Amino acid sequence: MSNTLVLDRIESNLTRLRLPRIRDILERVLKSVEKKDTSYLIFLDELLEEEVAQKEQRRVETAIKISGLPFIKSIDEFDFTFQPQLDRQKVMSLFDLTFIRHKGNVIFLGPPGVGKTHLAVSLALKACQAGMSIYSTNMEDLIKKLKQDHEAGRRGKGRSYYKSSLVIVDEVGYTPISREECNLFFRFVAHRYEKASTIITSNKAFMDWTELFQDPIIVTAILDRLLHHSVVINIKGNSYRLKGKMQVDGMDNLNNVQTSGSIPTTENGSILKDR
Ligand code: ADP
Ligand code: MG
Repeated sequence: MSNTLVLDRIESNLTRLRLPRIRDILERVLKSVEKKDTSYLIFLDELLEEEVAQKEQRRVETAIKISGLPFIKSIDEFDFTFQPQLDRQKVMSLFDLTFIRHKGNVIFLGPPGVGKTHLAVSLALKACQAGMSIYSTNMEDLIKKLKQDHEAGRRGKGRSYYKSSLVIVDEVGYTPISREECNLFFRFVAHRYEKASTIITSNKAFMDWTELFQDPIIVTAILDRLLHHSVVINIKGNSYRLKGKMQVDGMDNLNNVQTSGSIPTTENGSILKDR
């Protein structure tokens, strides 16, 4: 059989086997190994490495697309000099993803615009690249979904917000949570406790959660589970959204008014201790 016919057959088999990257690069790699007199082993290795790399890239792209992340930003895009009070080392140490392997949680607290969601998103991206399943939602949306499941009599166990290795629950604190919703959120937190990691972002200090959640007993039980294996990062600083604007419009005071007193440190202000 001629070389052309053999190549045709290989290409058609690679298509059937769903190895498109090898099919695309086969001729080029063949020519280059013939020139360099490379071993069969190296030839095969090069082809497989390329295919695996492309499949991995596709997996990450698809996972990110369906994750619900509000935007895509990496930690490299985070300007730590803008938040001098933020413990850079503490934040960066999260990126080894040990907290996910240990089924722990991360809680970002702080006023609007200080980068809570950005940090949560960048952690989720890192986790996704490391092959972990991710899902992102905000509190309002999560409660809506938990209610729908409850009303339909579904336990929701197969849902991404239950089973993903890392779930972000963004924006806890913007809307009050009724007693019934408290219960649903408690069940969600209890289900994930010591099984999988959750990142929470909130503009409210823990001591204010008792007002936010209209069931004081359940909120203690929620915080108990959330904080047992957790890292709490309290960001006290200016809003990045107002960056530049503050000097131009003399808005320094506006940001200070929003933050002052509302976010006590977790070390001395929370009802449970920051680790
Ligand atoms: P929060 O969730 O605390 O309200 P976000 O994370 O949504 O704030 O940040 C608001 C915007 O400002 C986003 O576009 C985010 O990427 C950007 N941002 C916030 N802090 C920083 C920072 N320190 N460096 C770079 N971009 C930042
Ligand atoms: Mg946010």
